Amino acid sequence: MKVNPQELLRDFEQKLKAAGKNFPRYVLIQLFRDYLSISESLLFFNGYVEIPDSVTRKLENAYERLLKDEPLDYIIGWKKFMNLNLKVDKRALIPRPETEGLVEIVLSECRKNHFFVDIGTGSGAIALSIASGLPDALVYATDISKEALELAMENAATNKIENVKFLQGDCLSPLKPFIDRIEVIVSNPPYIKTEIISGLDISVRKYEPMIALDGGADGIDFYRKFLKELPSGKKVFLEIADYTATALEKLVEEERRDYKIRIEKDLFGLLRYAILNPAL
Ligand code: SAM
Ligand code: GLN
Repeated sequence: MKVNPQELLRDFEQKLKAAGKNFPRYVLIQLFRDYLSISESLLFFNGYVEIPDSVTRKLENAYERLLKDEPLDYIIGWKKFMNLNLKVDKRALIPRPETEGLVEIVLSECRKNHFFVDIGTGSGAIALSIASGLPDALVYATDISKEALELAMENAATNKIENVKFLQGDCLSPLKPFIDRIEVIVSNPPYIKTEIISGLDISVRKYEPMIALDGGADGIDFYRKFLKELPSGKKVFLEIADYTATALEKLVEEERRDYKIRIEKDLFGLLRYAILNPAL
């Protein structure tokens, strides 16, 4: 079928608007580029091009899914994280840009380390980008969710990353046989307070796994358990919510005298990273 890509985009935008869904232009351009493989330059070209029927069918499918509030990244099916292209689907949380900041801190502070673990790896975002950035390192990637772990394994295979080992289980328990050799522990655990989950974007609530998000009544259930299991002498890098920073600091100061904690902000100026180092 011959279509004018500009008109196709405009009509698609109008159709969504009429159904009560207002998406910014750049979001729709991303859908056309990454899901339909219609290049951005074609979207600026005011003329007619041949487009296969399969592409228009895909666009109709995307329309139906957007109407049901499915996140754009699940529809596109992959997401760029650091220098990796990761498959994303409902088995795991869509990696967030602030988590790239966590990986950057780890890569800059742990160049000389060899044994890492990423607890709650989800799509594999953190573990795979550390393994790819430090090819001589070995990264254990764990998750309590079997489905998430399967997605992470698929992502390791498609990105040809071999220095990662996958383990299923709760918090530090699957790492028991290896814990002595582990030097660095990284985690972006569930940390949203249960009471504010109902206020999250509808596409997050409807489609992303709750086990990836719900941090309990005060958002710090995972950290509480983790601090009980954590052996001395590790370097620890945790993603946190702004509102959990104070409670976590207090918990570490009270319960873990063998560690000192430092909190860093993300690019948006929010308290986002908690770094624990052995107290000297
Ligand atoms: N690391 C990924 C990222 O940054 O995009 C996913 C992070 S998601 C916020 C949290 C992940 O932790 C989910 O994949 C969830 O299944 C896992 N998880 C939740 N509770 C856990 C637990 N007690 N032990 C291990 N993994 C857990
Ligand atoms: N940053 C995610 C969100 O706001 C939450 C991730 C998490 O709980 N670790 O949806």
